[in-house]
Amino acid sequence: MKKLGDGCCVLRFYPVLYVITGGGLLKNGRHYGFDELNLVIVGLALLASFLFRPYGLIVSALLLGWALFRALSTKMEKRASELLWMKNHLRGLKSTLIGTGYRLRLWFRNLLGKIRYHRQYKTFKCKTCGQKLRVPRGKGKIRVTCRNCHTQFSMKS
Ligand SMILES: [Zn+2]
Repeated sequence: MKKLGDGCCVLRFYPVLYVITGGGLLKNGRHYGFDELNLVIVGLALLASFLFRPYGLIVSALLLGWALFRALSTKMEKRASELLWMKNHLRGLKSTLIGTGYRLRLWFRNLLGKIRYHRQYKTFKCKTCGQKLRVPRGKGKIRVTCRNCHTQFSMKS
């Protein structure tokens, strides 16, 4: 059994990273510091270190290195444009998710409606003309008149 707790290294590293970069020590205006993109990167690093062992640790180390690089960077505009890029993509992702959720809800409501309809009505075709007809369920043996060709027949509902 593999030991747990590899991800805890990342967890321990996170406040360190924050303190070094955004939380004070480097708040002299020369370094870019800690932003939301770095938060996402650190989050991904955390996820990788927990989920994809053993290579996840390498991946998370690379990601943390990237976050550290961004935080220590002095090229403000470049880092800021990276942040903007991520925010735009997150917005796209969000609207996609909302759209998918809406479609799923619609599909589910449709399905529920179909089930309810099926439980209330029995649908069949007229034996003479093929007209689609429906009768309410649970009424016992009933006489049906086709509304197209007016053929009468009896059936169990
Ligand atoms: Zn008919």
